[in-house]
Amino acid sequence: MHRVSGGVFARLCGSRISNQLNENVCNYSRSLVSPQNGPKIAVVGAGPAGFYAAQHIAQARPDATIDIYEKLPVPFGLVRFGVAPDHPDVKKCISTFNKTAELPNITFYGNTALGRDISLKQLKQCYNSVLLSYGAEEDQRLGIPGEHLKNVTAARSVVSMYNGLPGAQGVEINLDTETVVIIGIGNVAVDVARLILTPIDVLRKYDTTEDWLEKLRSSRVKRVVLIGRRGPLNISFTVKELREMLKLENVRPVFHKEQYLPFKEQVAKQERGRKRVIELLFKSALTEPEPETAERWARAEKEMELKLLRSPLEFLPGRDGKSVEKIKLAVNVMKGDTVMETKETEEIETGLVLRSIGYKSIQADKDLPFNDKKGVAKNVDGRVSEGVYAAGWLATGPRGVIVDTMGTAFKIGANVVADLEKGHKENPGRSGMPSLPKSTSWKDWRKLEKIEMEAGKLIGRPKEKITSVSEMLSKIQS
Ligand SMILES: Cc1cc2nc3c(=O)[nH]c(=O)nc-3n(C[C@H](O)[C@H](O)[C@H](O)COP(=O)(O)OP(=O)(O)OC[C@H]3O[C@@H](n4cnc5c(N)ncnc54)[C@H](O)[C@@H]3O)c2cc1C
Repeated sequence: MHRVSGGVFARLCGSRISNQLNENVCNYSRSLVSPQNGPKIAVVGAGPAGFYAAQHIAQARPDATIDIYEKLPVPFGLVRFGVAPDHPDVKKCISTFNKTAELPNITFYGNTALGRDISLKQLKQCYNSVLLSYGAEEDQRLGIPGEHLKNVTAARSVVSMYNGLPGAQGVEINLDTETVVIIGIGNVAVDVARLILTPIDVLRKYDTTEDWLEKLRSSRVKRVVLIGRRGPLNISFTVKELREMLKLENVRPVFHKEQYLPFKEQVAKQERGRKRVIELLFKSALTEPEPETAERWARAEKEMELKLLRSPLEFLPGRDGKSVEKIKLAVNVMKGDTVMETKETEEIETGLVLRSIGYKSIQADKDLPFNDKKGVAKNVDGRVSEGVYAAGWLATGPRGVIVDTMGTAFKIGANVVADLEKGHKENPGRSGMPSLPKSTSWKDWRKLEKIEMEAGKLIGRPKEKITSVSEMLSKIQS
């Protein structure tokens, strides 16, 4: 997954593009046309793809009525439950989503899941266009022996815990170990490593959960090792994440020079977009740091290690036969662009292994044409079948950052609008759908948001997230 830096993203999402978009949203609300006979649109999933697509459709078709159905009582998908809490700039796109949700002909139905409370068949009967944007929630597995062992789990369990995803707080994350191994060298892997190693006092400034801070208080972790199958020219984290890794308080980055030397000549040949991160990586791995930095690293009590050219072969249990105690790795070499395993192996002792090798979607409804192998909805440019569309990670796979998701969601929103130009039937929309007694409204969400902020204020934090659906529902009713 490639990510733009927080600064660039903030400029794109938080101000430049989004100001322009916000203005359009406002102009639109001023010139609202009666949606009585206009097309009825259902959007499923209130993450970035759903919001950006809804925004585009609302602007292009002021006569449309748009209903957004979301599984959780609260909106924003991975912006709330994925993006690292110490990257608050990235979350600025929420202000654009708020403006979209508050348009008079957009209605939010939270706590309403496709495949549980509503079906694709019902949506197709009641709406002119159904746009599915329910993301990619399952993690990819390695398929190697020992993966079932206790304390081998998805990095996303950690992400969900530090971000307060309902259902994630009970998951066991064993930080009673000196070494954590993360398989993967993308931004999510680096986020998770950083959130394990960052001092509690620093994390407290952000909206991470008290549960995670509590876990960190008893953590024994001294070393986090990130494992990559390929060489240093193939890392997939971005420059912002690397800089953060180099600056992390009380943490020494560990690089293995011999993994960089054979590729040194190719650094200059890297394409512009990747050159900055590759140059900084090679400089950090191969040159002596400034004296001040060297002194800081010498004093550091913890390590973040980048181990490249290694493939996980097997997880080995400890004496109990149930929990992971070691990971066995193959040592790889690169032949041109191809990675090849050698016969050489090595082992790392660890009490927690986190997989961070990608995500896939699920087929939330049996009537949705689905590519099981790729874990995406079958679609051509977002078109699934007549009147049914897919956007975001459900359509593209787990690729890119919010800006990329925004770009594709706008395109698919434009396809919806273009198809509606051919005319539309007078469908009933929401009034034809079954009643949803447990659904939450946008007003309910704003109430929860206020409660979270007030709870945060009491403990000197930006907010304290409510981490269970039942608690959210009872707070709404109270
Ligand atoms: C851990 C992590 C960190 C990231 N950090 C960054 C970052 O720092 N910067 C950046 O730019 N990008 C980041 N990204 C990428 C970014 O989050 C994605 O590009 C973007 O969220 C994809 O949007 P989406 O709408 O397709 O999916 P999602 O954001 O996943 O939204 C899908 C929504 O659908 C809902 N849903 C699921 N199932 C159903 C159902 N059956 N019925 C109804 N609703 C349903 C979900 O609850 C969710 O609200 C990160 C991704 C991850 C995984």
